[in-house]
Order: sequence, then structure tokens, then C-alpha cells
Amino acid sequence: MSYVDEIIEQVIKQNPAEPEFHQAVKEVLESLRVVVEANEEKFRKDALLERLVNPERQFKFRVPWVDDKGQVQVNTGYRVQFNSAIGPYKGGLRLHPSVNLGIIKFLGFEQIFKNSLTGLPIGGGKGGSDFDPKGKSDREVMAFCQSFMTELCKYIGADTDVPAGDIGTGAREIGFMFGQYKRIRGVYEGVLTGKGLSYGGSLARTEATGYGLLYITEEMLKCNGQDIAGKTVAVSGSGNVAIYATQKAQQLGAKVVTVSDSTGWVYDPDGIDVTALKEIKEVKRARLTEYKNYRPNSEYHEGKGVWSVKVDIALPCATQNELDIEDAKTLVSNGVIAVCEGANMPTTLEATEYLQKNGVYFVPGKAANAGGVATSALEMSQNSERLSWSFEEVDSKLKGIMVNIFHNLDSAAKKYGFDGNYVVGANIAGFEKVVDAMNAQGIV
Ligand code: NDP
Repeated sequence: MSYVDEIIEQVIKQNPAEPEFHQAVKEVLESLRVVVEANEEKFRKDALLERLVNPERQFKFRVPWVDDKGQVQVNTGYRVQFNSAIGPYKGGLRLHPSVNLGIIKFLGFEQIFKNSLTGLPIGGGKGGSDFDPKGKSDREVMAFCQSFMTELCKYIGADTDVPAGDIGTGAREIGFMFGQYKRIRGVYEGVLTGKGLSYGGSLARTEATGYGLLYITEEMLKCNGQDIAGKTVAVSGSGNVAIYATQKAQQLGAKVVTVSDSTGWVYDPDGIDVTALKEIKEVKRARLTEYKNYRPNSEYHEGKGVWSVKVDIALPCATQNELDIEDAKTLVSNGVIAVCEGANMPTTLEATEYLQKNGVYFVPGKAANAGGVATSALEMSQNSERLSWSFEEVDSKLKGIMVNIFHNLDSAAKKYGFDGNYVVGANIAGFEKVVDAMNAQGIV
């Protein structure tokens, strides 16, 4: 049996009931097959893949907190420190009821390659909890965040592990966690990114993932003789990534006609009104049903459906596995030319293959949404310098990083004979740097 197949089998056996982690490992290792086969003897001897798929360390802990009725609630917290070959662990904290160890491991594993692709010195990690901030009062969210950080602060630090936001962890949660870290550890350091501007945050971090997604989409289209201006776009989600992807797409002259949340979706034939969207989601923290009050011409539909609309470009920006094979077939029959992932692993493996086989340009999340973590690393640099850069400076560095990522993965794909396969290109480009660093550091 080939080394790749052996490791995939081993991962499934040793990590039962973690389907998302299996999926991520399979996706990455399948596309690295060509590189692994070229170095099989050395990699086997060094147990390189075994070391790559096993986190360096993982923590699972109890998070007790008191709700507004005086009832004690108990959630589970996680931090997986996956790989520190190229820098301190870096990756977000997800707060969502679906969170379990397998989901955190899939995200942490993907993060290794994404962080490597940015070209910045950051390793891979991820964390979170099954706590649901939705419907909780600010005091309840604070109580949870303080309890969560009371445990997490033992394992993180500005030079060891620097968490950030993710689903359910926005500016409010980061603020509460930062306050508790400082209170317990007694140091004012850049231990979290995505901080508020008044206490060490970076300008353009809020916009970074969505903007970065559009910078790479624009560059990829340009290199394939297409222009983003004038294109119609479907976006899913209506959180941080979706909002700023919509905003930048419109600044670049495209028309975004959909957004969604976990209960339904909006079709706005005139183009999504970002100001209204921000008010509904960032200020009122309300449902998308409200959108119609701002834009009477729009339609609201319950359930899933953004991929049924005829568009040129699809940008999945909500969550994992939200674009399946049926959606891919619909998109292709409607003439989609590009799918670029704002979320982490939003497209199933089957759907990805179908899109690629049908000539759709496909840029995977680990490259397409890397703008968030790249700007987090820029936030770390500013914190270390104790300086703040202007919005334009950060935004222009972000754009440079995204353009560079595209060219790196494009070249890696070409080098191994997979011209235009950006999934293979992203995995190989990310992997080569990590392997080089792991080899240089000996068996650790
Ligand atoms: P937010 O919490 O701000 O928004 C998430 C959006 O997705 C919301 O509209 C939410 O709807 C929807 N959503 C969440 N879970 C589901 C579900 N199970 N089914 C349908 N819709 C769902 O998160 P972000 O925008 O920050 O993150 C979105 C994705 O992008 C995630 O995969 C994240 O890992 C990834 N990402 C984020 C980065 C960042 O900088 N924020 C960086 C890189 C990747 P509702 O409000 O109803 O829950």
C-alpha cells in the first residue's frame, strides 16, 4: 500500500468519529501524493506524515459559567496546537454548538498549510467551544469568555500560541478574553488578534478575510483572461467574511445578489445593500428576514438555496460542507466560471472534483481565505513593534500577500504538471515550506 493510503487509513482508525478531520487529511494527502511518492523512502523513514497528521499537543477542558438565571452551565473548551515548525501556533477560536474535537482538528490541520502559504512565520493551531453566543446576554458571553480564558491562558502567549476569532468569536468575545488574559497573567501582550483598535488591534483586520478573498479571486481571474468587473456573484453567509467579501466585490465592480444565514437566504436582484446588511448583522444581531424591510425589491427564502441562482462566481463564506454535489451541478448548469472559498472547507470533496472536471476555476479556502490570518500576523508585528500602521498600509500588504499566494500555488501546480489545479497547488506550496522546516529541526 502506498504511504499516503497507509496514513489515511491510520488516521481514520486512530481518530474514530471525526469525519471532518478525515476529510481534511484525505483532501490534503491526496493532492500531495505526487510529492510524497517522489520522496517516499525518506518520508517513511522519518515518519514525516505521521508527525504531520498528529497534533503536537491538544487540550480539552471544562468551562463552567453562570447564566442570568443563576444556573451553572458547563461547556467544553478545546485548543489544538498542531504544528509549530514555521512559527508560533496561530488559528482562531470557534464558538458554535457543533464544535467538537474532530472539527477543531480539521481546522487546525488546514491552518498549517494556510499559514505557510501566507509566507509569514506562523504555525498551525485552532480552538473553540460548543458554547453558543447566539441569544446570550453580554454578561453571559463575558462570563463564558472569562471562564474559557482562565483555563486557556495556561497554554498560550505572544511567542507560543496566538488565537484569533472565527465563527461566533467576534470583537466582543476577543475583548472579554483579552481582558481576562491580562488580568490573570499580568502582561499586556499581543496574545490574541482581532483586538479592538483602542487596545492593540490592527486596522483592516475586520475586513481582511473578505477583502483578501476578492483580491485573490480578482488575480486568478485576471491570470485566466477574465475581469471581475461586471460579474454576478453569489455569496453565502452573512457574517464577517461574507459582509466584507460582498463589500469588496462591489468595490471591484461585481454585483453580489445573495447572502444567507443558518435559517434562510436573500436574493436581491439590484445587488446586496452592504450598509443594510451590516446594520442587521453587526448592530442588531438580527436575522436576515429583516433585510426586506430595507430593500422591498428583494426576496427572502427559508432554508438553503443561494447556489440555485444563476451567477458567474460563487463565494461560499458560511461554514464547512455547505456546497454539495447537487449544488455544484446546479452552478455548472447555470454557467458558473469560478468558485472561491471564503469559509473553511465549504465545498464537499465530491463537489470540488465535479467543479474542477467541468472547467470551473476553484480556489480552496486555505489559500482564498488566508487574508484573515495573514493580517492577524501583521497585527502581531505591529504589537511587537508597539506601532500601528494605517489602513492603507495594512490593506496594501494584504493585497500583496494574496496576489503572491495565487502565484505561488499556480507555480506549484504547474511545477508538478497540474496546471490550473489550485487545490493541488495550494497544498503543495504550503506543504513544501513546512516540510523543509520540520526536516531542518530534527525529529521533534
Ligand atoms: P461568522 O460567525 O461571522 O458568520 C458565519 C456565517 O455563516 C453566519 O451568517 C452564519 O449564520 C452562517 N453559518 C454558520 N454556521 C452555519 C451552518 N451550520 N449552516 C448555515 N449557515 C451557517 O463567521 P465568519 O464569517 O468569521 O466565518 C465564516 C467562515 O469563514 C468559517 O468557515 C470560518 O472558519 C472561515 N474563516 C473566517 C475567518 C475570519 O477572519 N473571520 C478567517 C478564515 C476563515 P447564523 O448567523 O445564522 O449562524
